[in-house]
Amino acid sequence: MGNKELSIIIPVYNEQENLRPLFSELSGVLEKNRLSAEVIFVNDGSTDKSETILAEICEKNSNTKTLSFTRNFGQTAAISAGIRESSGDLIITMDADMQNDPADIPRLIEEINDTCDVVSGWRKKRKDSLFSRKLPSCLANYLISFMTGIKLKDYGCTLKVYRSHFLRKVDICGEMHRFLPAILGYMGARIKEVPVNHRPRQRGVSKYGMSRIFKVVLDLLTVKFMGEYISKPIYLFGGTAFFFLFFSGIFSAITLYKKFFEGIFVKDQPLFLVAILFAIIGVQFALLGLLAEILVRTYFKINDRPNYLIKSRK
Ligand code: UDP
Ligand code: MG
Repeated sequence: MGNKELSIIIPVYNEQENLRPLFSELSGVLEKNRLSAEVIFVNDGSTDKSETILAEICEKNSNTKTLSFTRNFGQTAAISAGIRESSGDLIITMDADMQNDPADIPRLIEEINDTCDVVSGWRKKRKDSLFSRKLPSCLANYLISFMTGIKLKDYGCTLKVYRSHFLRKVDICGEMHRFLPAILGYMGARIKEVPVNHRPRQRGVSKYGMSRIFKVVLDLLTVKFMGEYISKPIYLFGGTAFFFLFFSGIFSAITLYKKFFEGIFVKDQPLFLVAILFAIIGVQFALLGLLAEILVRTYFKINDRPNYLIKSRK
């Protein structure tokens, strides 16, 4: 594989004990398999000695660089910065805590042949605690797969290989790095999942607590909306408006029928209040849809981006 065809992006937040062993393990694997790759560490505002250690590693090794953030911006921002900095045709992301095994990299690259664009690692024998990690993750994987239609067993594994053609076209924020396969799936990428090795964390501590559950649910909403309705938000909001206005009409008709044919005063029919409420909500949704349409047009224009992606030109 020629120079710079492969970019490896590693987000780092307070991983001082892991960096040297990780890099030597990674270089060993690359050397053994005759792979040439640029390695991009993104130091996400570490407060320990990570920055110094990374500077040392980069000084001694060509094709290795470190971007250091001014403060902790999060793993998604780190991966995003790495993608912008990278120049490879294939991009690999992996954790800096040595839980991912670099020895899996050659196999993942082999799997990404002409028939797929993303090869996602599946930590089949995950070495994390059951209640705080594996159970919430199992639920999240099911929910994300169900909502987005991109069925994966392990969204949370950072070890993945992507065709950079797709990755360079996405904007990710919040904690969205774990949704990348779904986001790329919406863009037409073909995705494959292969089992990878997973090891317990030997040094340092995990950077996440249970609060990520809420973030996952909120990010999922954004991903679903951006993936399915970004180019036509009026279909979603207008559809909801139709639903409310339709039932508002039916409830109003029932109220009027009861008034004229059964002699029940409108003030004695609570259903009329529901009809009014539904009418207001319906109109609000319709207006929201129109506003969203205007915003979306601005979004595509500002980013100078079409709402489609071309696969090839012949
Ligand atoms: N990480 C990061 N910024 C953060 C949190 C984490 O760059 O704000 C990095 C961290 O150094 C590690 C990877 O993201 O390389 C995964 O983090 P961690 O191992 O704590 O997650 P877990 O394995 O517990 O899901
Ligand atoms: Mg970890």
